[in-house]
Amino acid sequence: MRITRVALSIAVLASLAAIGLSLSSCSQEEMEPIKRRVMIIGVDGLEWDVMGPLLDAGRLPTFSRLLDEGAWGEIRSLDILESPVIWTSIATGKLSEKHGITGFAKSRRGATDPTPITSNVRRVEAIWNILGERGLSVGIVGWLATWPAEPVNGYMVSSYFNYGWGDSPGEKNRRITFPEGIADDLAEYRIGPDDVGDEQLLEFLAGDTRLGEQGSLLEGRIKALRGAIATDETTRRVAHSLALSFPTDLFAVYFRGVDGPSHKFWTDAFPETGPPLTAEEEQVFGQVVVRYYEYMDRVVGEFLEYADENTTVVVTSDHGHSGPKLRGGTYQWGIAMHDPSGVVVLWGRDIVPGQLSDPSVLDITPTILALYGLPVADDMDGRVLAEAIDPAFLRAHPIMSTATYEPGEATPGSQDQEPVESPVDDEVRERLRSLGYIE
Ligand SMILES: [Zn+2]
Repeated sequence: MRITRVALSIAVLASLAAIGLSLSSCSQEEMEPIKRRVMIIGVDGLEWDVMGPLLDAGRLPTFSRLLDEGAWGEIRSLDILESPVIWTSIATGKLSEKHGITGFAKSRRGATDPTPITSNVRRVEAIWNILGERGLSVGIVGWLATWPAEPVNGYMVSSYFNYGWGDSPGEKNRRITFPEGIADDLAEYRIGPDDVGDEQLLEFLAGDTRLGEQGSLLEGRIKALRGAIATDETTRRVAHSLALSFPTDLFAVYFRGVDGPSHKFWTDAFPETGPPLTAEEEQVFGQVVVRYYEYMDRVVGEFLEYADENTTVVVTSDHGHSGPKLRGGTYQWGIAMHDPSGVVVLWGRDIVPGQLSDPSVLDITPTILALYGLPVADDMDGRVLAEAIDPAFLRAHPIMSTATYEPGEATPGSQDQEPVESPVDDEVRERLRSLGYIE
């Protein structure tokens, strides 16, 4: 489907403009940020061991170009390999004990089921707050742990936009976007698992898949693949429509990407890593992981078209992937399949090609601040990836520091917030359970 500009209502446009004015007056006695654009494309679960042979075979043309022209490395993840924790560290430059997001879900007093983690639990400023408060416009799409969507100097489509199929997104689920009104304007871009056509599905499969056969052994796994495609296609379409309609200084989009397919189809791709499969499964699903990497390569390539000569692009994963771990004779799935090193590439304005020196997920936010000529905070846990930045830029804009970007009292150690309940909690829990992330 061709993506066109979103016809956002006049009221929503007016509210965006008003927020831009009210927030941009916040900065006092600070340097003006450098006029530039930064685009972050987050892809969950990218693994060099899978990408290497595909790059060699010329099957990932976008990544080939990014690696040739950009700065790249094996990004070091956290001790906690749970995606909402890591994506929050990427967006804050801080460890979990400071930012407050400690897992996929958390128990609430009096509730029997764990509640999926929500944005109010985050205790510290994210890059979109820091830049927005200094007058830069921000557009955030799908980032983990961003529901309820918070007020920003621009727009935010929370990670829950991908749940609640069949409902009008804004109807039941308030604060699914900021401003709230854009949820209904973006609804036409949502795709549910049942909207994924057979033709689209077959791009990822091989052989006679007997797609329509009810009760087939393959049916459950095909449903999982439909879900993964629907989610990333929704994110892709929403992010395109917004990037076209409202170019922002910072644009960040998160894709569940290869993580789900890696959990569900890894052993089909690499049969030696898991328990035996049926010949049919191996034949039908053996290409899913690799073809999902090729799909993500095309998706990233499409977003590069928005990058002008003033744009710096960061493509990053939160962790890598492996097969299930065999411990004591049993296979461990779920988080045990997350590998502590993932993929990062910086590319575009002021980036010099080469290999990064032990980059960490904590380094993304400090590096973006440096690219804007803004100081890095002493209470951040990462560093500026200076080896990626043009020395001439760093001479003109030396890396500076400031004590903190946090307003008021230091927040670490403050009362832990509980996640808030949402109308899609059952659906979120079902997905987290199906991936082995929660009990
Ligand atoms: Zn995972």
